[in-house]
Amino acid sequence: MPPRRRVLYYVGAVVALAAAGLTYDSFSSGRYLFGHDPVAFWLFAACALLTEMLPLRWLAYENSGEVTGSWTFVMAMLLIASPIAAVGATGILFLLADLRSAKSPIKLVFNVADIVLSLSLGAVILGLTGQATQLQHGGQPDLVWFPVVALAFAVVFASNTLLTCGVIALNADVRLRSLLRDHGTDALPTDGMLLALAPIFVVAAQRSLLLVPPLLITSAIVYRTAHLSLSRRHEATHDLLTGLANRRLFDQHLGSAINSSERRSEKVGVILVDLDGFKAVNDNLGHQTGDQVLAEVARRLTSACRPRDLLARIGGDEFAVVLPRIGSSDAAAEVAWRILGTFDEPIDMEGFSVSLRASAGVAVAPEHGADAHRLLRRADEAMYSAKSAKSRVHVFQPGRDSAAIGRLGLVTDLGRAIEAGELFLEYQPQVTMETGQPIGVEALIRWRHPTIGVVPPGVFMPLAEQTELIEPITELVLEEAVKQSALWTAQGRRLLVAVNVSVRNLENPRFPRLVQQILANQRVDPSTLILEITENTSALDSKTVRFVLQEVSELGVALSIDDFGTGYSSIIQLRDLPVHQIKVDRQFVATMADDGRNTLIVRAILQLADALGLDTVAEGVEDELVASILHDLGCRHAQGFLFARPMAAAEVGPWLDRPSRWDLPMELRQAPAAQPPYRRS
Ligand code: C2E
Ligand code: MG
Ligand code: MG
Repeated sequence: MPPRRRVLYYVGAVVALAAAGLTYDSFSSGRYLFGHDPVAFWLFAACALLTEMLPLRWLAYENSGEVTGSWTFVMAMLLIASPIAAVGATGILFLLADLRSAKSPIKLVFNVADIVLSLSLGAVILGLTGQATQLQHGGQPDLVWFPVVALAFAVVFASNTLLTCGVIALNADVRLRSLLRDHGTDALPTDGMLLALAPIFVVAAQRSLLLVPPLLITSAIVYRTAHLSLSRRHEATHDLLTGLANRRLFDQHLGSAINSSERRSEKVGVILVDLDGFKAVNDNLGHQTGDQVLAEVARRLTSACRPRDLLARIGGDEFAVVLPRIGSSDAAAEVAWRILGTFDEPIDMEGFSVSLRASAGVAVAPEHGADAHRLLRRADEAMYSAKSAKSRVHVFQPGRDSAAIGRLGLVTDLGRAIEAGELFLEYQPQVTMETGQPIGVEALIRWRHPTIGVVPPGVFMPLAEQTELIEPITELVLEEAVKQSALWTAQGRRLLVAVNVSVRNLENPRFPRLVQQILANQRVDPSTLILEITENTSALDSKTVRFVLQEVSELGVALSIDDFGTGYSSIIQLRDLPVHQIKVDRQFVATMADDGRNTLIVRAILQLADALGLDTVAEGVEDELVASILHDLGCRHAQGFLFARPMAAAEVGPWLDRPSRWDLPMELRQAPAAQPPYRRS
């Protein structure tokens, strides 16, 4: 049966039972409908309405819990008035409160039926033990009254918890037992305390209604304390920014999911999701925007998970999901793809949008690991495989994904790799648009890992940039590239060589001296070297970075702003920094022919560069159409798979000597420049 139909049947059954309860209530009403003291009844009803209308939320996020103080007054009404008056009034109160918070009709009907049925069961207990009319008729509590009232309250609480968990379990397809355990332990302290206050209110009201207001103040304080303790408990296990579970709750949850899956011979999946390039969002747009982006990411990920899955934020830009009762690793991978699908749409911030990508690693218990710690590590390793293979989602493969590829493994390994000479360079040619002639190459680092093969820089450079390792790596790349440049010069080839440097390098005042020494050692003309800096507003504003850039520029080395268009650097920076070249980011270039807006962006960037007298390189040129559009827009140089992929140094010579390289088609050279937006025919 589909879950929706099951829920409908369930709600129908609860409504029918609630109707039976109401019938019992109306037949068992004693002489005084509103009790011996109707004013007390209405006072309690007013308090119940007020507290129901003003629930205390303890978290401002979707999965927030809330406590209402209405239990106290609802139970007080049940103790002093006829069942039909108490239950009927409560039903109406709940209806009003739910109408105000615009709950869906089915939720509204269920909530009212739930409370009516639970209270009626309480009324049955009071009736069967002959205590129902005790206070209703103006009597005094006696020795039997208290235990009977305690029993009636326990029945009301149990019924309410069971009914509510029942509907959640049906709706979300989660186990009733675990829900009852979690919900029961969450609600018992507060609800129990609120219920316990009811007899105190009743006894006080019997003495004098004037005692009720001071008692209200006391209970408000108790209520507030309960609220605080709930939020504390919540905070200890949740991430404040996104409201998701935190690492602690994730570990607990994963551990118990694995334990119960062992007993039932089921599988548990773990997905680790890592955002690509989130650091740039923080650096360029500020932490506040970064936070908003993370909150939105959390919302999207939540929508992609099944209700029984637990989604947690376990690191700055890292999320993890526990998938209990997952059929197979393929099913887990399917969830991972669905999760990554939520990044297809850019995130709309006020006035601009942020495009994010992510990679996901999947591991499944018991085959990939039988404890929480190991399983998470496997997912981490799989995630790094996904990053290095650029496959986005990767399911852990025993034997293939070695333990070394996990993050920690990578960082430790990287240090060793430098010593062991596992890092090497490839060179990707750049051509002049006007003639198609090669002008230079960009040096790109790679890592030949002994067990996992070639790791691309997108995987290990961000890690290197977070450690001291970035210094020796840049030094190594510079030395190697400059040495290669000297070799090419000796062969009579004049090629510009571009080297990527990290912002961390530019924060080191000794960097210009290093560049100078390396150039001098190889007797290379500084004007053949270009340093590429990734566009990064906050870093370019720093005094040290400006000083370093100035010094480097004075050596005669050219500076290029890489990935231009993604980092929001200002025109003032372009004007004031000793920049010589702009590299238009491939994100705009690659899709130019399909998306006219990107053509407009590229055109604007090229015009800006032209106005400032800067050289331009378009990166990521993959097809002829894009190349000819760029040519028409006046872009000076280009780099991309259309011309050549990155290649070993030894292959550059033969590539340069090939008779047919890329040539701009003749008809395009003569045709007048086309007007954007361009469309692929
Ligand atoms: P980047 O500097 O923007 O380098 C260009 C990247 O675009 C290279 O990826 C290159 O292989 C890729 N690419 C070139 N043409 C095309 C194309 O037509 N289509 C597509 N889809 N891609 C193309 P790679 O080698 O993976 O490098 C990624 C990034 O890693 C570089 O981006 C750069 O930021 C960083 N990186 C590489 N080597 C170094 C280095 O030695 N030092 C530092 N600090 N960063 C480096
Ligand atoms: Mg570059
Ligand atoms: Mg680039």
